[in-house]
Amino acid sequence: CIILAIESSCDETSASVLHNGKILSNVVASQEVHHQYGGVVPELASRAHQQNIVPVVSESLKNANINKKQLNAVAFTRGPGLLGALLVGTSFAKSFALALNIPLIEVNHMEAHVLAHFIDEPKPTFPFLCLTVSGGHTQIVLVKSALDMEVIGETQDDAVGEAFDKTAKLMGLPYPGGPLVDKYAKEGNPLAYTFPATEMPGLNYSFSGIKTAFMYFLRDQLKANPRFVEENTDDICASIQHTLVKMLLQKVKKAVSETGIRQVAIAGGVSANSGLRQALAEEAKKRNWEVFIPRFEYCTDNAAMIAMAAYFKYEAGRFTHQMVSPLARMPIGV
Ligand code: ATP
Ligand code: MG
Ligand code: FE
Repeated sequence: CIILAIESSCDETSASVLHNGKILSNVVASQEVHHQYGGVVPELASRAHQQNIVPVVSESLKNANINKKQLNAVAFTRGPGLLGALLVGTSFAKSFALALNIPLIEVNHMEAHVLAHFIDEPKPTFPFLCLTVSGGHTQIVLVKSALDMEVIGETQDDAVGEAFDKTAKLMGLPYPGGPLVDKYAKEGNPLAYTFPATEMPGLNYSFSGIKTAFMYFLRDQLKANPRFVEENTDDICASIQHTLVKMLLQKVKKAVSETGIRQVAIAGGVSANSGLRQALAEEAKKRNWEVFIPRFEYCTDNAAMIAMAAYFKYEAGRFTHQMVSPLARMPIGV
């Protein structure tokens, strides 16, 4: 089967073509318009999606060398995400499927982040654990099958990507700050400063406390030395990253010991973080885990992962209807 997939949940407009489980193309248009505002502006995101969607789909079909008449299904991200942004992709997918008279497949964006692991080898086998870390989510997912996932732990407040972005913003770094913290951290000492990691019960996380602690830390340091941030950017980034990664891994270790599952995958934008990748690889060696880290381009938002998730649904005959509407909040497993 040949599937066209559309992703428009946040600030990336993306389209991908999949043929029998293989990705033929994956075109991503990132929206530059938000950078000057230090965060994603929902209304501007919707407008940019409207401008990007037709050229992105055309390029995706062209790169795959596929004519739209060859398509067997159209897939789209139904949620979670920004409602106005999701509406653009959903409406486009519905019209395209209607015009071509082919079925529609709805995809949960967070399930797709998990299923990005089935794009390339090596692929995990079921069941496995997936730490899903992005701008809006921080979850430990028990993946029983491609169509059966359960969230066994998650953040009770901020996502870890938000913690990266907000601490970067406090340091005066441009949006999105996560990749910049990663870059500077490479040159810094991870033990230069310590921040209090919030302890949460069970497999849950909390990242709002560390953000506040960081704000007071900066305020006090800047009082003593107004050039504190410029002079110590590398050490500050390395220390904050070290703390966040440590918090993430602590619950993953707990999840492994509670479930007895030793296959551990990471997904979502923050899985691009080199500190997290390295720490996970080290734990894996030490504890005899099998670790799965997706290729960089499949970590952040992309339509290839939507296509892969849609492929599993296509095989299972799970289609949706023309009356479907997007869901800003859409839990995993619904
Ligand atoms: P969600 O998937 O929860 O709806 P989203 O789509 O905004 O949220 P993604 O695009 O998957 O999230 O990830 C974006 C997040 O990943 C941002 O917070 C960004 O700072 C963070 N990020 C990307 N690369 C890195 C990196 N190398 N280190 C740390 N954080 C990173
Ligand atoms: Mg994004
Ligand atoms: Fe995402």
